[in-house]
Amino acid sequence: MNFFIGRKEGLEKLNRFVENNLQEYSKLRNFDFGPQKRENTSTLSPFVSHGVINEAEIINKVLKKYLFNNSEKFIQEIFWRIYWKGWLELRPKVWDDYLLDLEELKEKYKNNLELNNAISGKTNIKCFNEWVKELKETGYLHNHTRMWFASIWIFTLNLPWELGAEFFLENLYDGDAASNTLGWRWVAGIQTPGKNYLATEWNIKKFTNSRFDKIKLNEKALPKKIKKQDVTIEKKFSNPSIESNKTLLIFDNNLNFEQSDFKNYEFKRVLLVSNFKNRKILLSQNLIKLKSFFLKDQSERLKSLSINCEIVDINQIKDLKENVYALYPCVGENLNFIISNKLKNIQFLYRKIDQFSWKFCNKGFFNFKNYIPKIIENIS
Ligand SMILES: Cc1cc2nc3c(=O)[nH]c(=O)nc-3n(C[C@H](O)[C@H](O)[C@H](O)COP(=O)(O)OP(=O)(O)OC[C@H]3O[C@@H](n4cnc5c(N)ncnc54)[C@H](O)[C@@H]3O)c2cc1C
Repeated sequence: MNFFIGRKEGLEKLNRFVENNLQEYSKLRNFDFGPQKRENTSTLSPFVSHGVINEAEIINKVLKKYLFNNSEKFIQEIFWRIYWKGWLELRPKVWDDYLLDLEELKEKYKNNLELNNAISGKTNIKCFNEWVKELKETGYLHNHTRMWFASIWIFTLNLPWELGAEFFLENLYDGDAASNTLGWRWVAGIQTPGKNYLATEWNIKKFTNSRFDKIKLNEKALPKKIKKQDVTIEKKFSNPSIESNKTLLIFDNNLNFEQSDFKNYEFKRVLLVSNFKNRKILLSQNLIKLKSFFLKDQSERLKSLSINCEIVDINQIKDLKENVYALYPCVGENLNFIISNKLKNIQFLYRKIDQFSWKFCNKGFFNFKNYIPKIIENIS
């Protein structure tokens, strides 16, 4: 991905996809035709995960051109992201346990040759090595490829899923605590207990359009065992009444204040919070560059609207003495920073779409998807 990008380029990509490719999406979406031919899916995920373009905007754009029934598959995928987020919000311990287990495993595997071969793309599985290279160079892998990659990592290379999920978060331009952790758990057979995802040679050959074949995989492995039971919490995502002339913090998941639910409130200033060092999982240089550019793009758009704003390092928010608001950063590294530093002066503001959707995330996606039309009615 070109680094000199921002909201303008994201919107152009969205328009192109809706105009030219959405019609064929449900038929072609599972094919990975290779890095030079990515038109069959939207590749919008880096924009969506940074909030540069939000889900409601995408859905509204799609529904201006297509009836819900003719675009349902794509809209459902957008809601998978919202669903995973809500699922993790109701079970935040899953993320904390993941980070704890990861710490232990990193120590245990620090000089492990198989792990080193996997992350350097030096295994004896050609397609896997190519995907490692693609991930590092482009920050992107197709959804089906992420499933194959994770499955090969866990069941053929016999490496812990936690380390694979870390490798993804270090490199993916759309890296997201919820979609990534739960995606890896799903492949391992922990998210849907007892049901793992096994990559097979024929499936890879078919959906890569025969770019890869003769792949020796463990196609019979059993699901991984669950280490700790998930704990669901009761949480209301309600907003405080918002007073004017206070400071607003925006983290790197919400870089589109102008289109947010809070755009009509008056804030004294907006602080755009960057976090490159205070993380358990450090980001690749490419990802840092991308995030810096998205932050700068948001700051320029705010300045052009005469909104007082500044990009600050996350450590600086520890020094704020006043009470401030923050667009909710969601379960992940930024929220961990706020919690571990006991920053009690921050009040969270939740997006309408999340408030309305997350209450339906206590069960599986097949239950959640029944509410999609109702959610859309409430957000558009
Ligand atoms: C092991 C694994 C790890 C993953 N890690 C991440 C991650 O860190 N961040 C991330 O955003 N997605 C993750 N995904 C989900 C999915 O692979 C990507 O969202 C998708 O490939 C992005 O490509 P696209 O924009 O072309 O998607 P499209 O097919 O065009 O879909 C449109 C949008 O819907 C959302 N979406 C689509 N599929 C999914 C899905 N399965 N789960 C959640 N949201 C989805 C994305 O925001 C995407 O941009 C992961 C999937 C797996 C199997």
